[in-house]
Amino acid sequence: MPGLYARESRSISSMAHLRFFPQAVVGGSGAYLTADDGRRLLDFSASWGAASLGHSHPAIREAVDRALSDQAGASYLSTANEPCVLLAEKLLSLVPERARGRIWFGHSGSDANETVARMVVAATGRPRILAFEGAYHGGTVGSMGISGHPAQQGGRAEGLTLVPYPNSYAAGSPEAAKDAALARLQHLFATELPPGEVAAFFIEPIQSDGGMLLPPDGFFKAVEALCRKHGILIVSDEVKVGLGRSGRFNAFEQSGIEPDIIVFGKGLGGGLPISAVVGPEAVMNHAVAFSLQTVHGNPICAAAALAVLQTIERNRLAENAERTGGVLRESLDRLAARHRLIGDVRGRGLALGVELVEDRTSRKPASRQTALTVYRAFQLGLVLYYVGVRSNVLELTPPLTLTQAEAREGVAILDQALADVAAGRI
Ligand code: PLP
Repeated sequence: MPGLYARESRSISSMAHLRFFPQAVVGGSGAYLTADDGRRLLDFSASWGAASLGHSHPAIREAVDRALSDQAGASYLSTANEPCVLLAEKLLSLVPERARGRIWFGHSGSDANETVARMVVAATGRPRILAFEGAYHGGTVGSMGISGHPAQQGGRAEGLTLVPYPNSYAAGSPEAAKDAALARLQHLFATELPPGEVAAFFIEPIQSDGGMLLPPDGFFKAVEALCRKHGILIVSDEVKVGLGRSGRFNAFEQSGIEPDIIVFGKGLGGGLPISAVVGPEAVMNHAVAFSLQTVHGNPICAAAALAVLQTIERNRLAENAERTGGVLRESLDRLAARHRLIGDVRGRGLALGVELVEDRTSRKPASRQTALTVYRAFQLGLVLYYVGVRSNVLELTPPLTLTQAEAREGVAILDQALADVAAGRI
């Protein structure tokens, strides 16, 4: 479409983030964004999951307005302000007993995971960390150090060991994927990685940036048993898929496990920068030495986060994620029956992935077509993103408030985008 982006190139061409969103946003309401040319865009990304309540939710606006008038600047001794204390009490009530010790607040998923990595090593005296291949735990030096996404290859820490996340589609079945991943972990413990040297295992209850991979039934129960046997702490990174998105408040609940440490971010602030780590005192006490930053847990973001949690609970948004996610999933399955580009549809609740392949037998990743689909969908009014270690998985993480009508509207646009890509109309 020649000329379509002339306006954007004039207005925001110097922004590094142009790659992700080639148009400036001037407003938003619910599941929709308004672009600077007045176009309404249905947002199936929700800013990578951060806009958990959608855009401009009244509960967040009111909480922030109130905190701005009453509390602005009142970040007493970094985090001991009223909204923060109320938020801490609320979050602690929402995690299993095992993790219900102390809480730490940060600005992002990255600083939270980085802090956990440092705390667990200090608390246990063990030098090594386990994480999954394909895992994205953040973009700071410390959080890249414990990540397994190919984009972060250069940043890995020396003490990091990566193990494969089970990929049921690639392995042919969930059972095969589970067996292979567990066998690799057991082999590692029996050979090059003494489990007594491992402080913690960072898990993603659903691996999002690595390709929206769902763990096979029983996989994390087996991982939990191994970790308990060897005294390895389990850290659940709930940054993208937690807080109701998976259909449960905590995504790890669906695997029936109880992590020691839980990391929240993104959707916690509904778009405002706040993250949280919850864990046992023996570990969390090390946070004081490592990671206090001046405006951590500031009252504005804490008030927004409290409003987010209250709204998720009051409006039963985890249930909505499960129900509307089911409708979305069924519509995507129907698309898969018609579009040969679609190799697999997967996920849970409102954390869904659509893997695109060049052909269904070889399963060769259709990375170029994936990028084109995202771009074409954007032209047609739908915001999506793509993930995966081969960049060939469409990621759908819409607001938890998504309605069934909006779910169908988005899939209709995606249908058209896939057809246009397949026919070479873009
Ligand atoms: N953990 C997971 C699972 C994520 O998906 C992300 C970001 O995409 C992060 C951590 C890092 O969070 P942030 O971008 O807020 O630093």
